[in-house]
Amino acid sequence: MKNINIVKHPLIEHKLTHLRKKSTNSKEFKEYLNEISRLMATEVLRDIKLKEVEIETPLKTAKGFEIAERVNIYPILRAGLGMVEGFKAAVPNAKTGHIGLYRDEKTLEPVEYLFKYPKDTERDTYNIVIDPMIATGKSASTAIDILKKKNIENIKFVALLGSKEGVEYFANKHPDVEIFIAAIDPVLNDKGYIEPGLGDAGDRMFGTK
Ligand code: URA
Repeated sequence: MKNINIVKHPLIEHKLTHLRKKSTNSKEFKEYLNEISRLMATEVLRDIKLKEVEIETPLKTAKGFEIAERVNIYPILRAGLGMVEGFKAAVPNAKTGHIGLYRDEKTLEPVEYLFKYPKDTERDTYNIVIDPMIATGKSASTAIDILKKKNIENIKFVALLGSKEGVEYFANKHPDVEIFIAAIDPVLNDKGYIEPGLGDAGDRMFGTK
């Protein structure tokens, strides 16, 4: 599918392997997630618009370039929080919204419980939704529905790991959203976990069960 970009980089492969290992502790997990997010941010933001500016170096006047777009980052709670720092390191002026979703126990469908977004976000913004995992693809898809309902456009979605069926489901639901992902695993098990995967990203980050 055209809107799926697998981000291949030796450093990302290396760090993702550490994230997958069950021996990686919570502190290390957060560090690797943060480092991968920063590397992915560089790849995702390749098309960000620049404006030409005139600056003074210690020696001369020179032409340079600065980011011309307002960047907003939207982590999906909880695990998406682990990717914020990496993105903020790449774009320190980015604003952060939050998307809270839980899974209804009967229908297993995602339900919105929180949506906070930066001001004046509808026009001329560059929006990045982040969540380490795309399992069924339903949370990712619902998160995009929530943004679109507020007329927020120009959206990219960044994840570390997805299941084949989840990523394809999401890519079909929102063909206008470019997906950046480090790896796609073959299996989504009947409990909704990606295999071989890396376990529950939120639990591993926060040391919960
Ligand atoms: N969410 C996770 O954190 N891990 C999975 O394997 C699936 C969903």
